[in-house]
Amino acid sequence: MRFYTLTDYPTGLPDRALFKLESQTLPELAEGEVRIRNSWLSVDPYMRGRMSGIHTYVAPFELGKPMEGAAIGEVIESNDARLNVGDKVSHMGGWRDIAQLPAQEVTPLPDIDVPEQAYLGVLGMPGMTAWTGLNLIAECRPGDNVLVSAASGAVGSMVVQLAKAKGCHVVGIAGAAHKLAWLESLSVEPVSYRDRNSHELSDAIRLASPNGIDVYYENVGGICLEAALSQLNEGARIAVCGMINDYNAEEPTPGPSNLAQLIMRKAKMQGFIVADYWEHYPEFLKEVAPQVSAGKIDYKETVKEGLENTPEAFLTLFEGGNTGKMLVKLDS
Ligand code: NDP
Repeated sequence: MRFYTLTDYPTGLPDRALFKLESQTLPELAEGEVRIRNSWLSVDPYMRGRMSGIHTYVAPFELGKPMEGAAIGEVIESNDARLNVGDKVSHMGGWRDIAQLPAQEVTPLPDIDVPEQAYLGVLGMPGMTAWTGLNLIAECRPGDNVLVSAASGAVGSMVVQLAKAKGCHVVGIAGAAHKLAWLESLSVEPVSYRDRNSHELSDAIRLASPNGIDVYYENVGGICLEAALSQLNEGARIAVCGMINDYNAEEPTPGPSNLAQLIMRKAKMQGFIVADYWEHYPEFLKEVAPQVSAGKIDYKETVKEGLENTPEAFLTLFEGGNTGKMLVKLDS
C-alpha cells in the first residue's frame, strides 16, 4: 500500500514537504480484518488540528505513522463474515490507496441511489454537521434570518440549503465571485468577506438581511464572527461549528471586540462536535437522502486526481480552492 505520513508537526500553514508518501507490503489478513481498495479520500479542515501534536477532542496524527481520514472504497479481500469482496464501504483509513482494517471499523454504504462519494460530503460527516448545527444546536425555525460563513463549502452549502428548505431568509458569506454566484443561484443572499474589515462586512450583512440575524452558523471566526455579532436579533442562536480563520494562526488571534452583544441581544453561542451527535445520523439520512437522490439539494465537489495530490487538496482548503466538498479520486 502507499500512504502518507507526517514528518513533523507544522506551525502556520503546513509546508508541503511535511507530507511524505511511503509504501509498505501489507501482512496477510488477520481474523476479522478486511482489505479495501480506496476510490475516494476526504480531506477536511479539522485534520489541521490533528497536525498540532496536541490532543484536542481527537488524538493527533502520530509522526511517521499512516495518516487517517474518511474514505470510500471496495472490499477486495475479507476475513470477516460481515463483509464480502465487492462491498462498497466507508471507513477512516484514508490518506492511502489500500486500507487493511478490522471489519468492525468499516461501514457498508447504504443502498441509496447516489454516487458513492456523496458519503464523504453531502450525506457524510459534512452534511451531518450542517444538519446537526442548524437543527440541534441553533434550533433553527421556519422564518428565521440565517447567516452562514464559508457558505459555499461542504458544510456551509448544506446549511444554506437546509435553512432555505425550512423557509428561512439566508445570507451566505464566501470569497470568490463564482462561489457568490452559486449562492445566488440557490436564492441565498451572497456577501463577500474579501477586502473588507469587520465594520464593512457588518454593513454588507445588514443590507443583505435588513431584519437582523436570528441564527448564525459559524465556520470561520475572525471578522465574520465580529460582523455577525453586530447584527444579532434578540434571542439569536450561534452554532460554533468551526473557526478556519484561526487554524494556521501562529499567534493567538484577537477575540471579537463586541462579545458583549451576546448580553445585549440575550443571545446564545454554543460550540459542538458532530461525533457527539452521531446517534442522529439515521434521522439525518432519512430526511436528507431522498432530497439528494431526487436532485433537490445542489451539491458540488472539487476533485483532485491521484493519491499524490492529497496534500495539495488538503492545503487548498485554506486558500478557498474548493467549492463544495474537497475530494481526492483514486484510480480504481
Ligand atoms: P469547506 O468546504 O468550507 O472549506 C473551507 C472553506 O473555508 C474554504 O473553501 C474557504 O472558502 C473558507 N476559508 C478558508 N480560510 C478562510 C478564512 N481565513 N476566512 C474566511 N473563509 C475561509 O470546509 P468544511 O465544510 O469541511 O468545514 C467548514 C468548517 O466546519 C471548518 O471550520 C471545519 O473545521 C468545521 N467543521 C466542524 C465540525 C464539527 O464537528 N464541529 C465537523 C466538520 C467541519 P472561501 O473561498 O469562501 O474563503
